[in-house]
Amino acid sequence: MTQADLVIRGGKVVAPDSVIEASVAIKDGLILAVGADSAMPPTKQTLDASGMHILPGAIDVHVHFRDPGYPHKEDFASGTIAAAFGGVTTVFDMPNTIPPVGTPELLAAKHRMAADKAHVDFGLYALLGEDTIQHATEFAKTAIGFKLYMGNTFGAIPTPDTGAMLEAFEVVAPTGKRVSLHAETNSIMVRRELRMREAGRIDPLAHIASRPAVVAVEAVSRAAILSEWTGCRVHILHISSAEELRPLREAKARGVDITGETCPQYLFLSTDDYARFGGVIRVNPPVRERRNQEPLFAALADGTVDLVATDHAPHSVEEKTRNDIWTVDCGFPGVETQMPMMLTEVAAGRYSVSDYVRWSAASPAKIWGLYPRKGVIQPGSEADIAVVDLDREWTIDDARLQSLSKITPFHGRRVQGLPVHTLVRGRFVMKDRVLQPGTRGHGRSVHAIQQMPAAAPKNTDNTMSAIVGAGSPAGREHAA
Ligand SMILES: [Zn+2]
Repeated sequence: MTQADLVIRGGKVVAPDSVIEASVAIKDGLILAVGADSAMPPTKQTLDASGMHILPGAIDVHVHFRDPGYPHKEDFASGTIAAAFGGVTTVFDMPNTIPPVGTPELLAAKHRMAADKAHVDFGLYALLGEDTIQHATEFAKTAIGFKLYMGNTFGAIPTPDTGAMLEAFEVVAPTGKRVSLHAETNSIMVRRELRMREAGRIDPLAHIASRPAVVAVEAVSRAAILSEWTGCRVHILHISSAEELRPLREAKARGVDITGETCPQYLFLSTDDYARFGGVIRVNPPVRERRNQEPLFAALADGTVDLVATDHAPHSVEEKTRNDIWTVDCGFPGVETQMPMMLTEVAAGRYSVSDYVRWSAASPAKIWGLYPRKGVIQPGSEADIAVVDLDREWTIDDARLQSLSKITPFHGRRVQGLPVHTLVRGRFVMKDRVLQPGTRGHGRSVHAIQQMPAAAPKNTDNTMSAIVGAGSPAGREHAA
């Protein structure tokens, strides 16, 4: 009989449709068996998980680890350590670094850097901007997907206009990869912010006033139309309002391959918190009125919103506590607090722990072509596991975050549920709340195991490259 490297005994294994008392055997980084303890193979090592739940590690498809460019905010080592302490075993990192990930050479350099530093597995987004469309096919070979900024945020990445977006979608569609969208319409926000500044507003609520929900409604609607026209897969990042659920829902009903995420800040914070937190709460899109929270939870429950991510966006305390809201950096850390905050609602009976693993692990794995290699605990899957104490009550303390960013509006929040051990491909990265030595560089890029189903590009007789004859001299003449 094959000998396992590790058997996790006595816990409850959580899947999107079940919670079963079972032991889990791991060998060579993969799940070897899940079942009755008596059926487990002999093993070198055992972990007693009595009283614990065994969850597939969370896949956070939206983090900013600031590397390269902002070592005082975060780097790939500190960010992935924070992930491990949050029960997160795979992260997808955004491209708004210095420099932005806008050429194949820069993407390759970031792969080398991340492979050297990462404690958990990762995917890297490539930047899809007006001046990077020509690299899209090359990017698709090693990027987990693309990031396109429809609206300006931290990093001041230029936002492509609608024509450039259409062309970008046409080029990406045949690659099968997904374009993740910061779906806020820049031109609306620029005018609004100017008006607010002219009026002398520098208070935190001026930020939300400059970005009303219509910026997201308009952007999601437009992105859905361009996705539908081209067949390019898209993902709507950080859904913040009830209003943008309607264009998302309608596009899904039409068969558009569009997915969406929301984040704890939109589920658990509201405009009621602006006075207390000041600039700390400044994030894009903004934290909105409390009335948005219930529809967002309902949208998770009915599948309109597919998953929970964090938009982990670390900054220094000084950068978050300036008096003039327009000078406060946008975002705050979240990768290590998401799981406890979401599990607190499981304890409160709002949804089940199975619902949670669907939103945090199974759905992201499916949407980015990693399932069932990741996102589920079953034989043959990679042993990415969070062993969680669902009963443990504790208080989030920003001074104790693993992230270099020690300031969050979740500070002081009472939560129930704590990741006690985190394994990435069968190896303990965090054990008994202690980082395990030698795990730097254990993380690897998941693009090699990504399998996106065949794409279905549409209206291909009419793409920009078709019109100009794929760049031929005759074609260029024709286009002129
Ligand atoms: Zn972001």
